[in-house]
Amino acid sequence: MKKAIVIGSGFGGLAIACRLKKHNFNVTLLEKQSDLGGRARTFTHNGFKYDAGPTVITAPYLIHELFEMHGKDSKDYYNLIKVNPFYRFVFSDKSHFDYGDNLLAMLRVIKKQYSYEDALGYIALLKHSKRIFKTAFTKLSDKPFESLGSMMPYLPELLRIKFYESVNSSVSKFMKNENLTKALSMHPLLVGGNPYTTTSIYLLIQYLEWKWGVYYAEGGTRSIVNSLEKLLGEIGVECHKNTEVIRVVENNNKITTIETDNGSFNADLVVSNADPSMFYEKVLRKTPAKISNKPSVLKHSMSLFVIYFSTKKIYDQIQHHTIIFNKRHKELLADIFDKKIMIDDPSLYLHRPLATDIGGQQFESDSFYVLAPVPNNLSNIDWEEYGDSFKDIVFDILEEFALPGLRKNLVDSFYITPKYF
Ligand SMILES: Cc1cc2nc3c(=O)[nH]c(=O)nc-3n(C[C@H](O)[C@H](O)[C@H](O)COP(=O)(O)OP(=O)(O)OC[C@H]3O[C@@H](n4cnc5c(N)ncnc54)[C@H](O)[C@@H]3O)c2cc1C
Repeated sequence: MKKAIVIGSGFGGLAIACRLKKHNFNVTLLEKQSDLGGRARTFTHNGFKYDAGPTVITAPYLIHELFEMHGKDSKDYYNLIKVNPFYRFVFSDKSHFDYGDNLLAMLRVIKKQYSYEDALGYIALLKHSKRIFKTAFTKLSDKPFESLGSMMPYLPELLRIKFYESVNSSVSKFMKNENLTKALSMHPLLVGGNPYTTTSIYLLIQYLEWKWGVYYAEGGTRSIVNSLEKLLGEIGVECHKNTEVIRVVENNNKITTIETDNGSFNADLVVSNADPSMFYEKVLRKTPAKISNKPSVLKHSMSLFVIYFSTKKIYDQIQHHTIIFNKRHKELLADIFDKKIMIDDPSLYLHRPLATDIGGQQFESDSFYVLAPVPNNLSNIDWEEYGDSFKDIVFDILEEFALPGLRKNLVDSFYITPKYF
């Protein structure tokens, strides 16, 4: 049986380990941390458990099929709950807009709160995002596009869906209201992109949510990571935690051995799911040959400042996913993505799992995380110095727009800065 090594246990590494096992490889998974999950790992602080990262699940079949391919029923491992509304958008004038997949309800609200024209525009936008989804997700999402030439056969289709437009300019063609345009073009931010510069292909996320819904795992995203760890054990994938890959040995341009701080591993096939730029620089120690991996072509996404906290007060008016938009939007994003300067007026995403998963309550408290998009580490911002004051800015916004009395109700809190990522 051929041996495969998978480096990194984020969702990508966990999934490829399941798939390689299905293809009859003898699979070993190597993870430098003491737990699995990567960005989806669990933080424990003063007894409270917090999902560190992903909480919005939009294509659940991609997780289910990892179990099904091994003859298992995913329902025996974890339970997904549909989130409703998908998101609440809160604007600087304190008005809000609830966004979901009930078309009639959405049209009624858009017509009442905004205009008839915007309601018609929303139907047209949805149709446009469906066209993008059909091309970009159904036909192209598994194409690697490793060179300009590899894109050529698909160029007519890409031109037809106007891939050259940004998400924001595409949405503004359909929506008249500024707040609605901000809200309906926010999807690239979920994956680290600026809606004003990211290709409109990312509008496919809007249709993806519409088609499959937005889900949350009962007990938190950690219940999916734990289920995948259990599955790997059952199908015979060896997991080595606390094992950092530090070097690879190559023979005729083929990796034969992986060296870690915890021993060496031979392999016929190696898949790295570690961050590619770090992996090339620190482990492979060479510049990638393929244009799609070159540091000069790749642009790092924004980064995040995330505060995890719990309160003794139960904020039952707060939806599961709330996005609070600052008044400054385009300029704010330019400060974060392009100028990479410190900001003091962030937009925020607030996660409140108790809104969907009442059984997940801990110590009779409400638990949250709030994240603010901020410049990445190329900014040279000293987060040791600014961390506490930025936390205060975030709490001020939350007290004003979502969680009155937050500070006096806090029972636990800690934060991570771009340094963590
Ligand atoms: C706060 C936050 C919220 C998010 N919310 C959502 C959401 O709601 N929905 C969504 O779909 N996405 C969300 N995302 C994005 C999502 O978390 C990531 O896209 C996804 O988890 C990345 O998975 P991955 O497997 O590609 O990589 P990672 O999770 O980054 O995993 C890489 C793994 O490789 C390991 N590793 C690295 N180098 C080495 C080495 N040399 N040796 C051994 N191991 C190594 C790392 O320790 C890590 O475990 C969010 C991200 C964050 C940070």
